[in-house]
Amino acid sequence: MADLQAIVDEIHDKLAPRLGEGKVADYIPQLAHVDPKKFGMAIVTVDGEIFKVGDADVPFSIQSISKVFTLTLALGKHGETTWNRVGREPSGSAFNSIVQLEHEEGKPRNPFINAGAIAVSDLVLAGHTPREAIGEIVRFVRYLADDDSIAIDPTVAKSEQATGYRNFALANFMRSFGKLDHPVEHVLGVYFHHCALAMTCTQLAKSGLFLAASGRNPLTGHTVVSKQRARRINALMLTCGHYDGSGDFAYRVGLPGKSGVGGGILAVAPGRASVAVWSPGLNHNGNSLLGSLALEMLTTRTGWSVFGH
Ligand code: GLU
Repeated sequence: MADLQAIVDEIHDKLAPRLGEGKVADYIPQLAHVDPKKFGMAIVTVDGEIFKVGDADVPFSIQSISKVFTLTLALGKHGETTWNRVGREPSGSAFNSIVQLEHEEGKPRNPFINAGAIAVSDLVLAGHTPREAIGEIVRFVRYLADDDSIAIDPTVAKSEQATGYRNFALANFMRSFGKLDHPVEHVLGVYFHHCALAMTCTQLAKSGLFLAASGRNPLTGHTVVSKQRARRINALMLTCGHYDGSGDFAYRVGLPGKSGVGGGILAVAPGRASVAVWSPGLNHNGNSLLGSLALEMLTTRTGWSVFGH
């Protein structure tokens, strides 16, 4: 195998002069306080080897990356009926777009745009109070990463709760179409809290490893989902994981991935490794600018791709 430590070190060195490029998300006030020059990357292979560089052990707000974990939970709870509530097509529009939702009568295009993830939060909430649902999500992510120190940053959750006008609009809109079962405040309480999970690149790469290893976390031996479900979640990450930048990410990186406005990206190289990268500056689609570049450099060097060797 390629010398992965040398590769991540080289990526870090090459990007060092560019740290700070891109635009840090500031529509969630608490996210604007992050140092734009942070950069971390962690690779966890299916053999359990870990390679990391830079700020790989500094926690950051995972934001929309959490949507992969809530989707996994919702599928576990509701199986294929999940798809009655949310579609599986790329949206081709911004992460928080409302226009499409009106055309499609409150059924969001996919589980990774905000409206879709809000619908998924509603599914995770079934049979629970919001507090219980949030607890279930945190326990699930701790189980995936095998790390009980993972927690939600309450200041980020509060900050978004106070300013998430657009998400309130999306949720109210869906509720008006009868597409949410629970009160909007409860559903968004769950949504804002899972987006506010704080994790390091190392924790994130570990928690995504089941997707690289046919549904089983080789570090813990736990079977998280079936092989088929792992493949399907990867397919959604590939087609929808970067909003209207998903095509570009597939073209340049060639792996399923999910980004968050905190500047993190989780990418899955099936049969090989799970990779997390963090650089807060975003490109015009709201995806980490240098994070995408780092993953492009990694897959160029290793030849990792879901499209061929
Ligand atoms: N919590 C963020 C929002 O709803 C998530 C967006 C993202 O990470 O892309 O706006």
